[in-house]
Amino acid sequence: MIVCKFGGTSVQDAEAMTRLAGIVKARLDRKPVVVASAMGKTTNKLLDAARLAARGERQKAVEAVRALEDSHLGEARKLGFAFDGEGKDWVYDTLQAYFKQLRDLVKGLSALGELTPRITDAVASFGERLSTVILTEALRRNGVDAELMDARDCIITDEDFTRAAPVFELTNPAIVKHLQPVLDAGRVPVFQGFIGRSRGGVTTTIGRGGSDYSAAIVGAALGAEDIQIWTDVDGVLTTDPRMVPEARRIRAISFEEAAELSYFGAKVLHPATIIPAVKKNIPVRVLNSYRPEKEGTIITEAAPPCDNPVKAISFKGGVTVVNVISTRMLMAYGFLQEIFATFARYKVPVDVVSTSEVSVSLTVDGGVDIGPIAADLEKIAEVAVERDKALVCCVGENLKNVTRALYTAMGAFKDIKIHMISQGASAINITFVIDEENMPEAVKRLHAAFFKDVDSRVFE
Ligand code: ADP
Ligand code: ASP
Ligand code: MG
Repeated sequence: MIVCKFGGTSVQDAEAMTRLAGIVKARLDRKPVVVASAMGKTTNKLLDAARLAARGERQKAVEAVRALEDSHLGEARKLGFAFDGEGKDWVYDTLQAYFKQLRDLVKGLSALGELTPRITDAVASFGERLSTVILTEALRRNGVDAELMDARDCIITDEDFTRAAPVFELTNPAIVKHLQPVLDAGRVPVFQGFIGRSRGGVTTTIGRGGSDYSAAIVGAALGAEDIQIWTDVDGVLTTDPRMVPEARRIRAISFEEAAELSYFGAKVLHPATIIPAVKKNIPVRVLNSYRPEKEGTIITEAAPPCDNPVKAISFKGGVTVVNVISTRMLMAYGFLQEIFATFARYKVPVDVVSTSEVSVSLTVDGGVDIGPIAADLEKIAEVAVERDKALVCCVGENLKNVTRALYTAMGAFKDIKIHMISQGASAINITFVIDEENMPEAVKRLHAAFFKDVDSRVFE
């Protein structure tokens, strides 16, 4: 069997869903499980509505839900669902029931005036629940014997709402129990990405962009031959094409390279996707649902040989640098440990670290409330916080031979100030921390420098 995951743009409207049905139909002999995201930007819109409601802007929130209702019903009608009979049909009834629940949630939020992570997940979960109802019927009308599943019966998580972690001992058998019989009956399960349920039965989500992760979890549990991530670009590219339109397709990339790339900003794959696939050595393919005939990118255990030192460049703005300067002359024993323990206590992931004799610089996401962490660190050190920074990360297995790559990179940065440089222990990435305002220029220059000539075995 295979897993076909379709992202937001691949299910964004009637046309996209029809195209998707064609892709699934062409793969029926491989026993696909369809994992789908919310339609287009629905998740963002749901979260906006929840925030508006909690801020007391009830009317605006209700209107936002109404707009989502109109767009979902509108696309369903474009698919040819008439919704004109007395008893309408199951799609209409289900969508209506969901929108009623959503409206009630939003009204409750405006009365409560507080948006907890738990309610956030309850609201966000509707995106995937709505899209898969429409998608299941769209598939059926296109001749695919689709069966709508509830991912929450399968993805069992902890209660760390908005970024819940799956409990694999429960999740894996639940996936087999619910999905295998449907596959065995020759039918196509349609499964919501992104959502799960805690052991206590409360709806959770597994982190933004998490549908990729859902797909990988399902694929690993069922021993898939292939996990296909269908999106809106031709595969994993040398950088984000929105930043550098001439970015090239990478034909093949290793798990390790893909993990580095997605961890540092490349949205094309959710960072955690790779883990379940690696454990089972299942190839992951990234494909374009708008151009299904293209061969995409294959992600496998070992990368093929490549003459270029860098495979891809990722970047991420909105980064904060925290400089921790030891108040003693030399770094005392336990100093580093204390610093990391502090970040861990606040559950704040640290992205890049670089150390000198007396100081440690770390980067964290700019959205983090650094105040309390800095206050704790000030008990043992001086702390200086610098905002509006960006990470630019060059990834490639050939970076193990770092001299040549650094030489090229430095030539590209030229007058752009670099605040930190860090080479991961895996030695397949070099990360530069620069001012955010210089990020677009830096990425363009690095891309031009590293991909002027490319190894045609690896890049298109
Ligand atoms: P989906 O909704 O299908 O999950 P995403 O928006 O999450 O799609 O990811 C696809 C987008 O990732 C692309 O449209 C592209 O702009 C962006 N992206 C960022 N870096 C890369 C990269 N290196 N290769 C391909 N796409 C990238
Ligand atoms: N719909 C979710 C999000 O927008 C999950 C996903 O699309 O992968 O984050
Ligand atoms: Mg995505």
